[in-house]
Amino acid sequence: MTHNGHDHHKCMALFEKMSEYIDHELDDDARAQVEAHIRDCCHCHTCYETLQRTVDLCRSSAEDYPLPDTFAEKLRELIESADQGV
Ligand SMILES: [Zn+2]
Repeated sequence: MTHNGHDHHKCMALFEKMSEYIDHELDDDARAQVEAHIRDCCHCHTCYETLQRTVDLCRSSAEDYPLPDTFAEKLRELIESADQGV
């Protein structure tokens, strides 16, 4: 099994920051970290795009948008299936 230096814990930690990133609530340092990771990690990139799209949709229809817990689950699935495929 090849990981290519890919660290799943990093992905899950990043995911927790992702909603704040989309809401522009992170400081410059944290923002840079999220952006660098999204650029390098295809799983998180896919997840970010999905999340961004969902947030946009929710924003256009309501002020408050609960982020679905299923995104964390989806990211985990993406990561796990990628591992099996390698
Ligand atoms: Zn990642």
